[in-house]
Amino acid sequence: MTIKKILVANRGEIALRIMRTAREMGIQTVAIYSEADRNALHVRYADEAVCVGPPPSAESYLRADVIIDVCRNLQVDAIHPGYGFLSENANFARQVREAGLIFIGPSPESIDVMGSKLAAKAAVAGYNIPMVPGTPSAITDRTEAKAISAKIGYPILIKASAGGGGKGMRVVEQEADFDEQMDRAVSEAQSAFGDGSVFIEKYVTSPRHVEIQVLGDQHGNIIHLFERECSVQRRHQKVVEEAPSAILTPEIREAMGRAAVDVARACGYYGAGTVEFIVNDKLDFYFLEMNTRLQVEHPVTEQITGVDLVKQMIYIAEGKPLTIKQEDLQIKGHAVEVRVYAEDPANNFLPDVGTLDTYVRPQGNGVRVDDGFEQGMAIPIYYDPMIAKLITYGDSREEAIQKMIRAIDEYEISGVQTTLPFCRFVMEHDAFRSGQFDTGFVSRYFTPDKLTPTPDTHERELAAVLSAWLLETAKPKPNGATVTAARQSKWKANRL
Ligand code: ADP
Ligand code: ADP
Ligand code: MG
Repeated sequence: MTIKKILVANRGEIALRIMRTAREMGIQTVAIYSEADRNALHVRYADEAVCVGPPPSAESYLRADVIIDVCRNLQVDAIHPGYGFLSENANFARQVREAGLIFIGPSPESIDVMGSKLAAKAAVAGYNIPMVPGTPSAITDRTEAKAISAKIGYPILIKASAGGGGKGMRVVEQEADFDEQMDRAVSEAQSAFGDGSVFIEKYVTSPRHVEIQVLGDQHGNIIHLFERECSVQRRHQKVVEEAPSAILTPEIREAMGRAAVDVARACGYYGAGTVEFIVNDKLDFYFLEMNTRLQVEHPVTEQITGVDLVKQMIYIAEGKPLTIKQEDLQIKGHAVEVRVYAEDPANNFLPDVGTLDTYVRPQGNGVRVDDGFEQGMAIPIYYDPMIAKLITYGDSREEAIQKMIRAIDEYEISGVQTTLPFCRFVMEHDAFRSGQFDTGFVSRYFTPDKLTPTPDTHERELAAVLSAWLLETAKPKPNGATVTAARQSKWKANRL
């Protein structure tokens, strides 16, 4: 089956990123959008676009029935769900299939198994995959759970089986705190995922989050595309990612790659997927979960392997066998990604949505910007506050980091606070530079006073000084030209 028209059931940068590949492949694209996204870039980029409802996701981007109707009306062949929204919703994948459409992703059965962290662990049990010590099923008896925790040894982690996005997770340092944290975890899991099942895992000390990208076709071929290091996190959510990891040896990389392929095999996986592992200070690795979708940080893998993951997803959905063989793949160079969120790093990373008064992207050799905004656009309060992903690529890790610092300095954003100054702090930090860091990076090293003023702050201060100076001393120029503070300030700001 050849796909001729794809509907992208998503918004923002990922919708655009998918449409770009579709266009390169000569495939028509359909965007959907909510009333909050009428002027969004993904809407303008698509060949056709349909409004699917009011701003809240539940009334628009999550309306499976409306989306499938759009597909019928516009003779769409396939749906790409992106990440978030309906991407890991097995029922949606099933409905798509029943409507005679292609879901560009894994089977509903794989999504079901991997959507539950407990079911996932059960599914891989026969494959000799290292797992963090913990309870194999949901906790029903607290006394028993406490006994298990004591045996495993504190600190432990209470986790929601249906969890995602870092939610529904509680660290318990000592038995005295067990009940309180348990109550919180259950209620968080219930309200966020509609499923209060929680289980226990040992809290791995000095944990690093290292994940493996896999691709599987519908003929049983599965390959891995090496690792991504995602240990710089706030609220258990990634903010800086890179590939390859600075600490893996070729032997461990191969062992993790093999384990990831086995996890995928355990659930008959096809499509692009990510197997997440936690790695301790001795480089022992343990299976955490599998994400059955395209991942936010997939570009770093694309940069180091030269593989367009979306293109592969489309081929796989068409039923084509993988043409890339494991032995063909090689890591070339190094890529770093920072997530540019509309959040205030000086204020606990709280969302800071608003209008992008200034928005100028960095450019040049080795710089990739995946975003969905333009200057003057507002960031809607209804969705994830990510503005962009900034990716740099170089021959070495050092070069990719240098390029990232240069690109961050070129990025001009005003109107909202962003994670950019924080990401610059990470790039310059000795622990990050040396590769010796774990998921405790932010709590261990970061305080708001570590942020250097952004060019934006400089710019505003300088603009104020300059306009005061201009008001006092400026005389009209003979040729009538006027020099405004705002136009000059960027140049000056960069030289301060
Ligand atoms: P990644 O590993 O791709 O970075 P994240 O955990 O950061 O994945 O999530 C990617 C996107 O999907 C984010 O927008 C996040 O908010 C959303 N997301 C992930 N899991 C869930 C979930 N279970 N429910 C709602 N949103 C989710
Ligand atoms: P989610 O579905 O929310 O992504 P994960 O199981 O992938 O849940 O965990 C998210 C993050 O929480 C990990 O990247 C890691 O930082 C931390 N984490 C998860 N499990 C453990 C553990 N057993 N020990 C230490 N940290 C953990
Ligand atoms: Mg995860």
